[in-house]
Amino acid sequence: MNRTLIRGAAIITMDRQGDLPVGDILVTGDTLEAIAPALTVVDADVVDASGCIVIPGLVNAHMHTWQTALRGLAANWTLLEYFQKMHAGLATVFGPEDLYIATLAGALNQINCGTTTLADWCHNNRTPEHNDAAIAGLLESGIRAAFFHGTPKPDPRPGERPFWEAPHPRTEMERLVKTHQGRPLLSIHAAVLGPHYSTLEVALHDFRMARDLGLIASLHQGGGAARTPQGWDRLEAEGLLGDHVNIVHGHALTDSQLQRFCALGMSFSAAAENEMSQGHGHPITGRLRAFGRAPSLGVDLESVLSGDMLTQARVALGMQRSLDNLAYREAHGTIPPTSTIGTREALSWVTLEGARMLKAEHRIGSLAPGKQADLVLVRATDLNMQPVHDVVNTVVMQTSLANIDSVMVAGRWKKRSGQLLGVDLPPMLAALRASGQRITQALGLVPA
Ligand SMILES: [Zn+2]
Repeated sequence: MNRTLIRGAAIITMDRQGDLPVGDILVTGDTLEAIAPALTVVDADVVDASGCIVIPGLVNAHMHTWQTALRGLAANWTLLEYFQKMHAGLATVFGPEDLYIATLAGALNQINCGTTTLADWCHNNRTPEHNDAAIAGLLESGIRAAFFHGTPKPDPRPGERPFWEAPHPRTEMERLVKTHQGRPLLSIHAAVLGPHYSTLEVALHDFRMARDLGLIASLHQGGGAARTPQGWDRLEAEGLLGDHVNIVHGHALTDSQLQRFCALGMSFSAAAENEMSQGHGHPITGRLRAFGRAPSLGVDLESVLSGDMLTQARVALGMQRSLDNLAYREAHGTIPPTSTIGTREALSWVTLEGARMLKAEHRIGSLAPGKQADLVLVRATDLNMQPVHDVVNTVVMQTSLANIDSVMVAGRWKKRSGQLLGVDLPPMLAALRASGQRITQALGLVPA
Protein backbone atom coordinates (compact mmCIF):
# COMPACT_ATOMS: atom_id res chain seq x y z
CA MET A 1 0.00 0.00 0.00
CA ASN A 2 1.20 3.52 -0.82
CA ARG A 3 2.64 5.43 2.10
CA THR A 4 3.51 9.11 2.13
CA LEU A 5 5.33 10.97 4.88
CA ILE A 6 4.72 14.71 4.84
CA ARG A 7 7.54 16.13 6.88
CA GLY A 8 8.25 19.33 8.75
CA ALA A 9 5.10 21.41 8.20
CA ALA A 10 3.08 23.54 10.55
CA ILE A 11 -0.14 21.53 10.96
CA ILE A 12 -3.60 22.94 11.63
CA THR A 13 -5.64 19.84 12.44
CA MET A 14 -9.03 21.41 13.34
CA ASP A 15 -9.21 18.40 15.65
CA ARG A 16 -9.30 18.15 19.43
CA GLN A 17 -5.65 17.06 19.48
CA GLY A 18 -4.69 20.63 18.55
CA ASP A 19 -2.17 22.07 16.12
CA LEU A 20 1.52 21.27 15.74
CA PRO A 21 3.98 24.15 15.19
CA VAL A 22 6.13 21.62 13.30
CA GLY A 23 5.10 18.06 12.62
CA ASP A 24 4.89 15.05 10.34
CA ILE A 25 1.89 13.34 8.77
CA LEU A 26 1.92 9.71 7.67
CA VAL A 27 -0.60 8.71 5.02
CA THR A 28 -1.22 5.04 4.29
CA GLY A 29 -3.46 4.29 1.33
CA ASP A 30 -6.36 6.74 1.57
CA THR A 31 -6.09 7.19 5.33
CA LEU A 32 -4.26 9.43 7.79
CA GLU A 33 -2.26 6.98 9.87
CA ALA A 34 -0.31 9.24 12.22
CA ILE A 35 0.23 12.91 13.02
CA ALA A 36 3.06 13.73 15.43
CA PRO A 37 5.94 16.15 16.04
CA ALA A 38 8.39 13.67 14.46
CA LEU A 39 7.73 10.28 12.84
CA THR A 40 10.30 7.70 11.83
CA VAL A 41 9.11 5.74 8.81
CA VAL A 42 11.31 3.78 6.43
CA ASP A 43 8.97 2.65 3.66
CA ALA A 44 7.26 5.88 2.66
CA ASP A 45 7.60 8.53 -0.03
CA VAL A 46 8.94 11.50 1.88
CA VAL A 47 7.66 14.98 1.03
CA ASP A 48 9.59 17.89 2.51
CA ALA A 49 6.87 20.30 3.59
CA SER A 50 9.02 22.73 5.53
CA GLY A 51 7.76 26.26 4.99
CA CYS A 52 4.23 24.97 4.46
CA ILE A 53 1.10 25.03 6.58
CA VAL A 54 -1.01 21.88 6.28
CA ILE A 55 -4.76 22.32 6.62
CA PRO A 56 -7.65 19.88 6.20
CA GLY A 57 -9.02 19.79 2.66
CA LEU A 58 -11.70 22.44 2.31
CA VAL A 59 -15.37 21.53 1.90
CA ASN A 60 -17.50 23.51 -0.55
CA ALA A 61 -20.98 22.81 0.78
CA HIS A 62 -23.02 24.31 -2.05
CA MET A 63 -22.19 24.94 -5.70
CA HIS A 64 -24.09 24.72 -8.97
CA THR A 65 -21.09 23.42 -10.85
CA TRP A 66 -23.06 23.22 -14.10
CA GLN A 67 -22.60 26.99 -14.51
CA THR A 68 -18.80 26.93 -14.84
CA ALA A 69 -18.87 27.72 -18.58
CA LEU A 70 -20.87 30.87 -17.76
CA ARG A 71 -18.24 32.31 -15.43
CA GLY A 72 -18.80 35.98 -14.69
CA LEU A 73 -21.85 36.25 -16.95
CA ALA A 74 -24.23 36.83 -14.04
CA ALA A 75 -21.89 39.06 -12.04
CA ASN A 76 -24.24 42.07 -12.18
CA TRP A 77 -27.56 40.23 -11.94
CA THR A 78 -29.91 40.33 -9.00
CA LEU A 79 -31.73 37.18 -7.98
CA LEU A 80 -34.72 38.16 -10.13
CA GLU A 81 -32.55 38.57 -13.22
CA TYR A 82 -30.81 35.32 -12.35
CA PHE A 83 -34.08 33.35 -12.21
CA GLN A 84 -35.22 34.79 -15.51
CA LYS A 85 -31.99 34.71 -17.50
CA MET A 86 -30.39 31.61 -16.01
CA HIS A 87 -33.10 29.17 -14.99
CA ALA A 88 -35.80 30.18 -17.46
CA GLY A 89 -33.28 31.01 -20.20
CA LEU A 90 -29.70 29.74 -20.44
CA ALA A 91 -30.35 26.56 -18.45
CA THR A 92 -32.87 25.33 -21.01
CA VAL A 93 -30.30 24.92 -23.78
CA PHE A 94 -27.75 22.81 -21.84
CA GLY A 95 -27.01 19.41 -23.30
CA PRO A 96 -25.37 16.58 -21.37
CA GLU A 97 -21.97 17.51 -22.84
CA ASP A 98 -22.33 21.01 -21.36
CA LEU A 99 -22.89 19.55 -17.91
CA TYR A 100 -19.92 17.25 -18.32
CA ILE A 101 -17.36 19.89 -19.24
CA ALA A 102 -18.68 22.48 -16.75
CA THR A 103 -18.66 19.95 -13.92
CA LEU A 104 -15.21 18.63 -14.79
CA ALA A 105 -13.66 22.10 -15.07
CA GLY A 106 -15.48 23.40 -12.01
CA ALA A 107 -14.44 20.44 -9.88
CA LEU A 108 -10.82 20.67 -11.03
CA ASN A 109 -10.79 24.35 -10.13
CA GLN A 110 -12.07 23.42 -6.69
CA ILE A 111 -9.12 21.07 -6.22
CA ASN A 112 -6.79 23.76 -7.53
CA CYS A 113 -8.14 26.15 -4.87
CA GLY A 114 -7.73 23.64 -2.02
CA THR A 115 -11.22 22.13 -1.92
CA THR A 116 -11.19 18.37 -1.56
CA THR A 117 -14.94 17.82 -1.09
CA LEU A 118 -17.58 19.39 -3.30
CA ALA A 119 -21.33 19.33 -2.76
CA ASP A 120 -22.45 19.70 -6.36
CA TRP A 121 -26.06 20.93 -6.35
CA CYS A 122 -27.07 19.90 -9.87
CA HIS A 123 -30.46 21.28 -10.88
CA ASN A 124 -30.16 21.57 -14.63
CA ASN A 125 -30.64 17.93 -15.49
CA ARG A 126 -33.62 17.31 -17.74
CA THR A 127 -32.66 13.74 -18.60
CA PRO A 128 -30.75 10.81 -17.08
CA GLU A 129 -28.04 11.55 -19.65
CA HIS A 130 -27.54 14.99 -18.08
CA ASN A 131 -27.02 13.32 -14.68
CA ASP A 132 -24.62 10.74 -16.06
CA ALA A 133 -22.61 13.47 -17.77
CA ALA A 134 -22.32 15.60 -14.64
CA ILE A 135 -21.33 12.59 -12.54
CA ALA A 136 -18.75 11.59 -15.15
CA GLY A 137 -17.21 15.05 -14.76
CA LEU A 138 -17.07 14.69 -10.99
CA LEU A 139 -15.51 11.22 -11.15
CA GLU A 140 -12.95 12.26 -13.77
CA SER A 141 -11.84 15.24 -11.68
CA GLY A 142 -10.88 13.01 -8.75
CA ILE A 143 -12.53 15.28 -6.19
CA ARG A 144 -14.53 13.84 -3.30
CA ALA A 145 -18.03 14.70 -4.43
CA ALA A 146 -21.56 14.69 -3.13
CA PHE A 147 -23.90 14.80 -6.13
CA PHE A 148 -27.12 16.50 -5.09
CA HIS A 149 -29.68 15.56 -7.70
CA GLY A 150 -32.01 18.50 -8.31
CA THR A 151 -34.66 19.44 -10.85
CA PRO A 152 -34.72 22.26 -13.44
CA LYS A 153 -36.76 25.42 -12.99
CA PRO A 154 -37.93 26.52 -16.45
CA ASP A 155 -40.85 28.89 -16.98
CA PRO A 156 -44.10 26.91 -17.23
CA ARG A 157 -45.30 26.19 -20.75
CA PRO A 158 -48.95 25.89 -21.81
CA GLY A 159 -50.22 22.38 -21.15
CA GLU A 160 -47.23 21.44 -19.00
CA ARG A 161 -47.12 21.05 -15.25
CA PRO A 162 -45.05 23.86 -13.67
CA PHE A 163 -41.87 22.78 -11.91
CA TRP A 164 -43.25 23.53 -8.45
CA GLU A 165 -45.99 20.93 -8.92
CA ALA A 166 -43.61 18.22 -10.11
CA PRO A 167 -42.53 15.63 -7.51
CA HIS A 168 -38.84 14.76 -7.47
CA PRO A 169 -38.24 11.91 -9.96
CA ARG A 170 -37.90 9.00 -7.58
CA THR A 171 -37.11 6.41 -10.22
CA GLU A 172 -34.12 8.39 -11.44
CA MET A 173 -33.02 9.04 -7.87
CA GLU A 174 -33.16 5.30 -7.20
CA ARG A 175 -31.16 4.58 -10.35
CA LEU A 176 -28.42 6.99 -9.29
CA VAL A 177 -28.31 5.56 -5.77
CA LYS A 178 -28.14 2.00 -7.08
CA THR A 179 -25.43 2.85 -9.59
CA HIS A 180 -23.21 5.11 -7.50
CA GLN A 181 -23.91 5.07 -3.76
CA GLY A 182 -20.96 3.53 -1.97
CA ARG A 183 -18.28 4.58 -4.44
CA PRO A 184 -15.16 5.70 -2.55
CA LEU A 185 -15.28 9.34 -3.71
CA LEU A 186 -18.93 9.85 -4.62
CA SER A 187 -22.16 10.02 -2.70
CA ILE A 188 -25.65 10.69 -4.01
CA HIS A 189 -28.17 12.98 -2.32
CA ALA A 190 -31.37 14.87 -3.07
CA ALA A 191 -31.57 18.57 -3.96
CA VAL A 192 -35.27 19.13 -3.43
CA LEU A 193 -37.48 22.18 -3.98
CA GLY A 194 -38.75 22.23 -0.39
CA PRO A 195 -41.65 24.32 0.86
CA HIS A 196 -40.13 27.55 -0.39
CA TYR A 197 -40.24 26.47 -4.03
CA SER A 198 -42.93 23.80 -4.28
CA THR A 199 -46.43 22.86 -3.26
CA LEU A 200 -47.01 21.09 0.03
CA GLU A 201 -47.73 17.81 -1.77
CA VAL A 202 -44.44 17.98 -3.62
CA ALA A 203 -42.50 18.92 -0.48
CA LEU A 204 -44.01 16.00 1.43
CA HIS A 205 -43.29 13.59 -1.41
CA ASP A 206 -39.71 14.75 -1.77
CA PHE A 207 -38.88 14.65 1.94
CA ARG A 208 -40.41 11.17 2.25
CA MET A 209 -38.37 10.04 -0.73
CA ALA A 210 -35.14 11.34 0.82
CA ARG A 211 -35.98 9.62 4.13
CA ASP A 212 -36.86 6.33 2.43
CA LEU A 213 -33.65 6.29 0.39
CA GLY A 214 -31.44 7.45 3.28
CA LEU A 215 -30.37 10.65 1.52
CA ILE A 216 -29.56 14.15 2.66
CA ALA A 217 -32.34 16.49 1.53
CA SER A 218 -30.89 19.90 0.68
CA LEU A 219 -33.09 22.81 -0.33
CA HIS A 220 -32.97 26.50 -1.06
CA GLN A 221 -34.89 28.62 1.43
CA GLY A 222 -35.03 32.25 0.36
CA GLY A 223 -35.31 34.50 -2.64
CA GLY A 224 -38.80 35.96 -2.80
CA ALA A 225 -41.94 34.77 -1.07
CA ALA A 226 -42.33 31.12 -0.06
CA ARG A 227 -44.76 29.12 -2.18
CA THR A 228 -45.91 27.10 0.86
CA PRO A 229 -45.21 29.20 3.98
CA GLN A 230 -46.80 26.69 6.37
CA GLY A 231 -45.00 23.76 4.79
CA TRP A 232 -42.33 23.49 7.47
CA ASP A 233 -44.90 22.88 10.21
CA ARG A 234 -46.38 20.00 8.26
CA LEU A 235 -42.99 18.50 7.46
CA GLU A 236 -42.07 18.60 11.13
CA ALA A 237 -45.42 17.17 12.19
CA GLU A 238 -44.81 14.28 9.78
CA GLY A 239 -41.42 13.61 11.40
CA LEU A 240 -39.58 14.43 8.20
CA LEU A 241 -37.04 16.89 9.63
CA GLY A 242 -33.71 16.00 11.20
CA ASP A 243 -29.96 16.09 10.73
CA HIS A 244 -30.32 14.85 7.16
CA VAL A 245 -32.02 18.12 6.13
CA ASN A 246 -29.84 20.97 4.85
CA ILE A 247 -31.16 24.49 4.38
CA VAL A 248 -29.31 26.75 1.94
CA HIS A 249 -29.53 30.54 2.56
CA GLY A 250 -32.41 30.50 5.10
CA HIS A 251 -33.03 34.25 5.36
CA ALA A 252 -36.80 33.97 5.32
CA LEU A 253 -36.92 31.71 8.38
CA THR A 254 -38.16 33.28 11.59
CA ASP A 255 -36.02 33.14 14.73
CA SER A 256 -38.36 30.60 16.29
CA GLN A 257 -38.16 28.40 13.19
CA LEU A 258 -34.38 28.68 13.18
CA GLN A 259 -34.18 27.77 16.85
CA ARG A 260 -36.47 24.78 16.30
CA PHE A 261 -34.49 23.59 13.27
CA CYS A 262 -31.20 23.96 15.14
CA ALA A 263 -32.63 21.82 17.94
CA LEU A 264 -33.64 19.20 15.35
CA GLY A 265 -30.03 19.02 14.18
CA MET A 266 -30.69 20.38 10.70
CA SER A 267 -27.69 21.91 8.91
CA PHE A 268 -27.38 25.30 7.25
CA SER A 269 -25.24 26.41 4.33
CA ALA A 270 -24.57 30.06 3.60
CA ALA A 271 -23.35 31.44 0.31
CA ALA A 272 -22.30 34.69 1.93
CA GLU A 273 -20.82 36.55 -1.02
CA ASN A 274 -23.57 35.63 -3.45
CA GLU A 275 -26.32 36.28 -0.92
CA MET A 276 -25.06 39.82 -0.40
CA SER A 277 -24.56 40.36 -4.12
CA GLN A 278 -27.82 39.01 -5.55
CA GLY A 279 -30.22 40.37 -2.96
CA HIS A 280 -30.94 37.52 -0.56
CA GLY A 281 -29.99 39.58 2.48
CA HIS A 282 -27.31 39.17 5.11
CA PRO A 283 -25.97 35.65 5.66
CA ILE A 284 -27.61 33.99 8.68
CA THR A 285 -24.26 33.27 10.36
CA GLY A 286 -24.94 35.44 13.41
CA ARG A 287 -28.49 34.17 13.83
CA LEU A 288 -27.18 30.59 13.86
CA ARG A 289 -24.41 31.46 16.31
CA ALA A 290 -27.03 32.82 18.70
CA PHE A 291 -28.42 29.27 18.86
CA GLY A 292 -24.99 27.70 19.29
CA ARG A 293 -24.66 26.61 15.68
CA ALA A 294 -22.63 27.64 12.63
CA PRO A 295 -23.04 27.50 8.87
CA SER A 296 -21.13 25.56 6.30
CA LEU A 297 -20.22 27.72 3.32
CA GLY A 298 -20.60 27.40 -0.42
CA VAL A 299 -19.49 29.26 -3.52
CA ASP A 300 -22.99 28.82 -4.98
CA LEU A 301 -22.38 30.33 -8.42
CA GLU A 302 -19.21 30.67 -10.46
CA SER A 303 -21.41 32.51 -12.95
CA VAL A 304 -21.28 35.31 -10.37
CA LEU A 305 -18.04 35.00 -8.38
CA SER A 306 -14.80 33.13 -7.80
CA GLY A 307 -14.67 29.48 -6.76
CA ASP A 308 -12.12 30.00 -3.99
CA MET A 309 -13.45 28.76 -0.64
CA LEU A 310 -11.00 30.74 1.51
CA THR A 311 -12.44 33.87 -0.06
CA GLN A 312 -15.86 32.65 1.05
CA ALA A 313 -14.58 32.19 4.60
CA ARG A 314 -13.15 35.72 4.60
CA VAL A 315 -16.29 37.29 3.18
CA ALA A 316 -18.56 35.47 5.64
CA LEU A 317 -16.29 36.40 8.53
CA GLY A 318 -16.06 40.06 7.53
CA MET A 319 -19.80 40.30 6.94
CA GLN A 320 -20.73 38.91 10.35
CA ARG A 321 -18.10 40.95 12.17
CA SER A 322 -19.50 44.04 10.48
CA LEU A 323 -23.04 43.25 11.63
CA ASP A 324 -21.86 42.47 15.16
CA ASN A 325 -19.72 45.59 15.34
CA LEU A 326 -22.59 47.77 14.15
CA ALA A 327 -24.96 46.23 16.68
CA TYR A 328 -22.46 46.91 19.45
CA ARG A 329 -21.97 50.50 18.35
CA GLU A 330 -25.70 51.07 18.29
CA ALA A 331 -26.08 49.59 21.77
CA HIS A 332 -23.02 51.15 23.41
CA GLY A 333 -22.05 54.10 21.23
CA THR A 334 -18.51 52.88 20.74
CA ILE A 335 -16.34 50.27 19.08
CA PRO A 336 -16.48 46.79 20.65
CA PRO A 337 -13.46 45.82 22.78
CA THR A 338 -12.71 42.72 20.67
CA SER A 339 -13.97 40.73 17.67
CA THR A 340 -16.97 38.47 18.08
CA ILE A 341 -15.59 35.79 15.76
CA GLY A 342 -12.04 34.52 15.40
CA THR A 343 -10.35 33.20 12.28
CA ARG A 344 -10.30 29.62 13.56
CA GLU A 345 -14.07 29.61 13.64
CA ALA A 346 -14.18 30.91 10.07
CA LEU A 347 -11.86 28.07 9.05
CA SER A 348 -14.22 25.61 10.73
CA TRP A 349 -17.06 26.79 8.46
CA VAL A 350 -15.15 25.58 5.37
CA THR A 351 -13.87 22.36 6.97
CA LEU A 352 -15.73 20.85 9.96
CA GLU A 353 -19.11 22.40 9.23
CA GLY A 354 -18.99 21.27 5.61
CA ALA A 355 -18.22 17.75 6.77
CA ARG A 356 -21.13 17.94 9.23
CA MET A 357 -23.50 19.09 6.51
CA LEU A 358 -22.60 15.95 4.56
CA LYS A 359 -22.88 13.82 7.71
CA ALA A 360 -19.27 12.85 7.06
CA GLU A 361 -17.51 14.43 10.05
CA HIS A 362 -16.18 11.01 11.05
CA ARG A 363 -14.28 10.85 7.72
CA ILE A 364 -13.38 14.37 6.60
CA GLY A 365 -13.20 17.98 7.82
CA SER A 366 -10.23 17.65 10.18
CA LEU A 367 -6.85 15.91 10.32
CA ALA A 368 -6.84 12.98 12.72
CA PRO A 369 -5.61 9.38 12.56
CA GLY A 370 -8.20 7.13 10.92
CA LYS A 371 -9.76 9.91 8.86
CA GLN A 372 -9.48 10.22 5.11
CA ALA A 373 -6.24 11.78 3.86
CA ASP A 374 -7.74 14.96 2.39
CA LEU A 375 -5.30 17.83 2.96
CA VAL A 376 -3.77 20.97 1.55
CA LEU A 377 -0.21 22.29 1.73
CA VAL A 378 -0.27 26.08 1.88
CA ARG A 379 3.08 27.64 0.93
CA ALA A 380 3.78 30.09 3.74
CA THR A 381 7.13 31.35 2.43
CA ASP A 382 5.59 33.50 -0.32
CA LEU A 383 5.73 37.29 -0.53
CA ASN A 384 2.09 37.76 0.54
CA MET A 385 2.46 35.40 3.53
CA GLN A 386 5.62 36.37 5.42
CA PRO A 387 6.16 36.74 8.28
CA VAL A 388 3.78 34.22 9.83
CA HIS A 389 2.81 35.12 13.41
CA ASP A 390 -0.30 32.96 13.67
CA VAL A 391 -0.81 30.14 11.20
CA VAL A 392 -4.61 30.20 11.34
CA ASN A 393 -4.73 33.96 10.77
CA THR A 394 -2.33 33.57 7.85
CA VAL A 395 -4.43 30.82 6.25
CA VAL A 396 -7.74 32.61 6.63
CA MET A 397 -6.73 36.20 5.97
CA GLN A 398 -3.65 36.06 3.72
CA THR A 399 -3.88 32.89 1.65
CA SER A 400 -4.95 32.94 -1.99
CA LEU A 401 -4.95 30.41 -4.80
CA ALA A 402 -1.35 31.46 -5.51
CA ASN A 403 -0.28 29.86 -2.21
CA ILE A 404 -2.10 26.52 -2.63
CA ASP A 405 0.99 24.40 -3.26
CA SER A 406 -0.31 20.84 -3.01
CA VAL A 407 -3.64 19.09 -2.60
CA MET A 408 -4.25 15.47 -1.61
CA VAL A 409 -7.60 13.68 -1.94
CA ALA A 410 -7.99 10.27 -0.31
CA GLY A 411 -4.22 9.80 -0.12
CA ARG A 412 -3.53 10.75 -3.73
CA TRP A 413 -1.79 13.94 -4.78
CA LYS A 414 -4.01 15.90 -7.14
CA LYS A 415 -1.81 19.01 -7.12
CA ARG A 416 1.91 19.33 -6.45
CA SER A 417 4.19 22.37 -6.53
CA GLY A 418 1.34 24.58 -7.70
CA GLN A 419 0.31 22.37 -10.63
CA LEU A 420 -2.70 20.10 -11.06
CA LEU A 421 -1.54 16.57 -11.84
CA GLY A 422 -2.77 14.42 -14.73
CA VAL A 423 -4.81 17.18 -16.36
CA ASP A 424 -4.38 18.44 -19.92
CA LEU A 425 -5.81 21.91 -19.41
CA PRO A 426 -5.69 23.52 -22.92
CA PRO A 427 -8.16 21.12 -24.65
CA MET A 428 -10.39 21.07 -21.59
CA LEU A 429 -10.54 24.86 -21.46
CA ALA A 430 -11.18 25.00 -25.22
CA ALA A 431 -14.18 22.70 -24.74
CA LEU A 432 -15.37 24.82 -21.80
CA ARG A 433 -15.16 28.00 -23.88
CA ALA A 434 -17.00 26.36 -26.77
CA SER A 435 -19.76 25.23 -24.42
CA GLY A 436 -20.12 28.70 -22.91
CA GLN A 437 -20.19 30.30 -26.34
CA ARG A 438 -22.82 27.91 -27.67
CA ILE A 439 -25.11 28.41 -24.67
CA THR A 440 -24.89 32.21 -24.61
CA GLN A 441 -25.31 32.49 -28.39
CA ALA A 442 -28.36 30.25 -28.31
CA LEU A 443 -30.05 32.80 -26.07
CA GLY A 444 -28.68 35.79 -27.95
CA LEU A 445 -26.82 37.06 -24.87
CA VAL A 446 -23.68 37.55 -26.93
CA PRO A 447 -23.49 38.18 -30.68
CA ALA A 448 -23.04 35.06 -32.82
ZN1 LIG B 1 -27.84 27.63 -4.75
